[in-house]
Amino acid sequence: MPKVCLYPRCFNRQKTNSTVTFHQLPRDPEVLQLWLSAMSINDVESPSLRSRDVRVCSEHFSDEDYRTPTRGQQKSKLLKSFAVPFTFVDPGRLIEVFQVEVPVTTIVKVEVPVTTIVKLEDQEAVVILEKTPISEDSLSELFSGSRMKLDMKNDIYSTYQLQPPAHLNKIKTTVVCPATEKHVKKYQSQEIFLVKETEEDYNNITLPYIQQQSFSIQWVFNILEKKAEADRIVFEDPDSQLGFVLLPDFKWDQKQNDNLYLIAIAHQRGIKSLRDLTPKHVPLLKNILKKGEETIMQRYGLPAWKLRVYIHYQPSYYHLHVHFTALEYDAPGCDVTRAHLIQNVIQNLQLYPQYYKTQTLSFTSREDDGLLSKFKDAGRL
Ligand SMILES: [Zn+2]
Ligand SMILES: [Zn+2]
Repeated sequence: MPKVCLYPRCFNRQKTNSTVTFHQLPRDPEVLQLWLSAMSINDVESPSLRSRDVRVCSEHFSDEDYRTPTRGQQKSKLLKSFAVPFTFVDPGRLIEVFQVEVPVTTIVKVEVPVTTIVKLEDQEAVVILEKTPISEDSLSELFSGSRMKLDMKNDIYSTYQLQPPAHLNKIKTTVVCPATEKHVKKYQSQEIFLVKETEEDYNNITLPYIQQQSFSIQWVFNILEKKAEADRIVFEDPDSQLGFVLLPDFKWDQKQNDNLYLIAIAHQRGIKSLRDLTPKHVPLLKNILKKGEETIMQRYGLPAWKLRVYIHYQPSYYHLHVHFTALEYDAPGCDVTRAHLIQNVIQNLQLYPQYYKTQTLSFTSREDDGLLSKFKDAGRL
C-alpha cells in the first residue's frame, strides 16, 4: 500500500520522484495530541490512525519545522521533535469565525513602511518596503488559501501565523538609485528628542532663536491679503481682530472626508505661538472654533464631534493658525507631543491667564532641527 496523508482534504500519496515527504505520527503522546488537534482529529481511537501506512506529508509543515541539514545533505527530511503541522481550519468555518467575532474591516491593518539605505554596485540606494494593504475582495481567498500555524491560544483569543498565497503576499518596493546625499538624509530615520521647555528656556533659548532666524512668513501674509491661494479659501471672517481665513491643507486632496484637513489662519498679526496667548485672545480662539466648525459642517457635512481642532507647539511657522482634522484621520503631528486641543487651550487661559507664558511645555524635536542644537548647546538635553 502506498503511504497516504492523513491531513484533512489532502490527497497526497507517496510517489517515486516526488519531492513531497511523508512523516510518521509522533510516538510521544503529547506531541501526537498536538498533531491530532492541529488536524482537527478528535477521535484518537480512529481506526485510520492505526493503519501502518498513515503519514502526514511535508506540505503541512514549514521550513522551520525541519532539522538543519547536516553537511552534505541538500535538505533535511527530518522533522524536529516538537514540530506540529499547520492548523487545519475549514475555510468556510474560518470566514465564519472572523465575521462573527469582529467586522472584517477592523482587522485589516496597514503596515508601516520600512526604509533602508543599501549599496547597490557601489552606488547608494534608498529602498522603501511597504506591505500592500489587504483588500477586502481578497479576504475569502486569503482565508481559504493560506496556511495557518497556531502561535498561542488563550480562552477566546488565539493568534496564528498566516502564510498567504504568493500573489497575496506582495511587498511594494520603491528604489531610489543612485540616491544623492539629500535623498539619503531625507529618508534616513532621524532620532527624535523630547524637549521640556520651561519659561526660562523659552525666553533664553527659543525666543532668541525664533527672532534670530526671522523665519519668513511672507507667504502667510500673501494668503491673508489674497495675493496668493485666494481661490483655495473656503471661508473668511475679515475682522482684523477676531477674523481668519480657512483653507484646505495641501495634505488633503478634498476628495473624501476620511482625511479632511483644513487650516485656519488668524488675521491678527504678532501671535507667534501658544506662548503668546493670553485671555484677551480667547474671543479670537472661540470665533475660529465656532465658525470653522460651522463651515466644515455646511460644506463637507462633518459635524463638530467628528473633528480634532488643535494648535501645534512648536508650530511649523510662527503666526497663529489652527488645525482642523477629521477625528478618524491620524494626521501627522496630531499626537500629544505636539497638538494642543483648542478647547483645552481656551479653558487653560480662562482658569489661569499666565498659563502658556509660565508652564513648561514639552515638544518633540528632530535631530536636524536648529532649535534642538540650541537646547543642546545650553546643556538642557
Ligand atoms: Zn498532505
Ligand atoms: Zn501648525
